Amino acid sequence: MPKTVLIAGTGVAGPTTAYWLARAGWKVTMIERADELRLGGQNIDLSDAARDVVDLMEIKEEIKKRHTGEEGLQFVDTDNNTVADFPVENAGSLTREIEILRGELIDVIVNAVPDDVEYRFGTKIERLDDKGSHVDVVFDDGKQESFDIVIAADGMNSRTRKMIVGDGDYLEYLGCWSSYFTVPRLERDNDWWRWYTIPTGAIAFLRPDNQGTMRASVNFLSDNDNPDYMTLDDKKVELRRRLDGAGWEAERLSKALDEVDDIFLGPLHQIKTETWSNGRCVLVGDSARCPTPYTGMGTTLAVIGSYILANELVAHEDHAAAFKAYEDKFKEFARKKQKLPPGVPDLAYAQSRFKVKLIHTGAAIGASSVVQKFASLFDGSSADENEFTLPTYDHISQ
Ligand SMILES: Cc1cc2nc3c(=O)[nH]c(=O)nc-3n(C[C@H](O)[C@H](O)[C@H](O)COP(=O)(O)OP(=O)(O)OC[C@H]3O[C@@H](n4cnc5c(N)ncnc54)[C@H](O)[C@@H]3O)c2cc1C
Repeated sequence: MPKTVLIAGTGVAGPTTAYWLARAGWKVTMIERADELRLGGQNIDLSDAARDVVDLMEIKEEIKKRHTGEEGLQFVDTDNNTVADFPVENAGSLTREIEILRGELIDVIVNAVPDDVEYRFGTKIERLDDKGSHVDVVFDDGKQESFDIVIAADGMNSRTRKMIVGDGDYLEYLGCWSSYFTVPRLERDNDWWRWYTIPTGAIAFLRPDNQGTMRASVNFLSDNDNPDYMTLDDKKVELRRRLDGAGWEAERLSKALDEVDDIFLGPLHQIKTETWSNGRCVLVGDSARCPTPYTGMGTTLAVIGSYILANELVAHEDHAAAFKAYEDKFKEFARKKQKLPPGVPDLAYAQSRFKVKLIHTGAAIGASSVVQKFASLFDGSSADENEFTLPTYDHISQ
């Protein structure tokens, strides 16, 4: 009998884990809370050993083909004048071999996942009952099913995590919220990442994509680290509140929200769970150790962690030994990559026009430490050499 696994979450970590398990003959069921794949988000880059994982999955060339073509970063003022720019080709440390829209990456991975993987949308886990020999799962529609293993790949705000490792002080709030949504491209848009600092403790971005639309992001300081559940309309109200009277493209973004049907919005937490598994259930990706977009490493860690977790499960008959090997081989690197540069993210936000001026002056000087720190916000690890040595598995080469 093939082993059965339930994976909650079809972001980056879920389908990557599914790929490796299904390839090894496991019977994989994936569930997603949303009614379809959530393909939103901006550019993300794959660095370090994640490049080798996608190479092993034979999707690296396809990913490279879908490069966004972004030309670099421009700091802009309220009239959309550029106050400083950092072209990709002139900034060695910012050059990324693999840069792709988050949704395109998910599309490529899902296309590579073997056809016998089952997807169920609009579903989440209501209760987990680990019986020792298997896990009984109750879904939110009341149906019950048993699996050998349950994997939580449901992101930073994972609900499944709590069912597995309980409540703990593993959430570290960064003091700010982020959002991602897609808006129509206008003639006046360009192919740069435009960064606008709002003097009320907020930052707005517009970034080009390769699909004829623009990727918007509104980020802001907030004391609220634990909001109630937000509907799509609640999210629009919150974003409009931040955009109201903010200048630059704020009014356009506010209007464009009328037509937006998926928004990622919420407080940014680093997730620092010390234990990634309990019995037959385990965490992967942001659910286990989210570094947040401020490190540029979330997707890289999700891809490497998924590869290791899945292949340790295939390599070991005993799931406890597999989970231990997964943590032993990967946790220290994941922990290290959560380290934020000093002053990040506070340094990037301004609560007065004077501070906006200081940021612009720092950016215009270019060599200042301010810019180095901003650069680190989206740089991740772009070195050619891998810092992490990917484990190899005999069953992969067979
Ligand atoms: C819509 C969206 C846009 C994003 N945009 C960016 C970006 O622009 N830049 C960036 O650096 N990072 C972004 N991220 C985060 C980034 O994708 C992750 O940091 C990283 O890729 C790790 O991926 P993950 O698969 O662990 O988590 P995620 O990519 O967050 O995927 C988690 C998935 O689980 C689903 N889910 C949530 N709760 C449940 C549940 N209870 N049951 C079942 N499924 C559930 C979610 O809908 C989502 O599809 C975004 C995430 C999302 C969801």
